[in-house]
Amino acid sequence: MILIVEDSPDQQRLVRQMLESSGYRDLLFAESAPEAMQLLNEHADSIQLILADVWLPSGNGIQLTRDLRSISRFRDLPVIIMTGKEGPQILPQAMDAGVSDFIFKPFHWLELVARVRNCLRLQTEISRRLSREAELLEEHRQLEGMLSKLEVASNLDPLTSVANRRKFDEHLDREWKRCARTGLIMSMILIDIDFFKEYNQRYGHPGGDQCLKRLAQGVREVARRPADLFARYGGEEFAVILPETPSGGAAHVAELLRKGVEGLRMDHEGSPNKIVTTSIGVASIEPPRDSSPDVLIKAADRALYRAKKEGRNCFAIFDSNVDGVI
Ligand code: GH3
Ligand code: MG
Ligand code: MG
Ligand code: MG
Repeated sequence: MILIVEDSPDQQRLVRQMLESSGYRDLLFAESAPEAMQLLNEHADSIQLILADVWLPSGNGIQLTRDLRSISRFRDLPVIIMTGKEGPQILPQAMDAGVSDFIFKPFHWLELVARVRNCLRLQTEISRRLSREAELLEEHRQLEGMLSKLEVASNLDPLTSVANRRKFDEHLDREWKRCARTGLIMSMILIDIDFFKEYNQRYGHPGGDQCLKRLAQGVREVARRPADLFARYGGEEFAVILPETPSGGAAHVAELLRKGVEGLRMDHEGSPNKIVTTSIGVASIEPPRDSSPDVLIKAADRALYRAKKEGRNCFAIFDSNVDGVI
């Protein structure tokens, strides 16, 4: 639909004839700028182009264009100014207001139709691109959402909702390298549930699963620094990575974990303590350059083995004099 803003009835008739004879039959007429605004608001979605006279009884075509440019839904609506005796001197002002094109009266119908057709074609192309752009943006947004969900899911253990082994390996590798670069001590804690085979025997495998879940959710918050990571290491074993943490700090966290599990007071009739307890191994190393974090895991595992031997429901700190050189 084309809106023609023109106060002269003769000019209105002329424009109508020219446009209608070229197939543009969907026309609206306004005689003043306020009337144009009213029609624009009523037909905001269907008006594709405005043909405006410069001088109008109330307002003028250039000011009308300037007003439209400040309204977001009309910002890109094309406006062709029809200028009469004012001549080209008003052109800079009109350009500045955001006018799309001009036509000097009196005009030949071919000139009018050519300008109208160009403006409409451009407009169609712009809106086609804008909607494609919006579509692409939406697709991009959806994809990003899916990717971030996937990323979270691929790093989580589905049973306990704590970090999985994949995330553990990745985090350990990165933090190990960082500590090696900065010469900081890194600690590892391995946690193993005591008498878990018996637990499964008494309470069934699904019962065992529930126990793992409660335990993980119950003590995961013990490792609270941003670079710390509480993960399910495998089966009924959990691990905590503590970068920039020497043995004293790691021992403190280990004891909090042990007490935390004890504090959950989960029944375990198959254990001498009658509740679920854990044995914990702690190791702390300043990573040598170009080394693998496997040594840290092995050391924590040796300490865990000793904690089991020393009676369970306790933690042990790796000591190469006692646990052997790795
Ligand atoms: P210890 O005190 O020496 O650790 O004795 P334990 O019985 O806990 O021995 P161990 O650590 O070797 O046994 C681990 C058991 O944990 C074996 C397996 O049946 C059970 N387990 C491993 N993964 C899962 C799991 O995902 N769900 C359940 N329910 N049980 C598991
Ligand atoms: Mg006029
Ligand atoms: Mg085990
Ligand atoms: Mg065990």
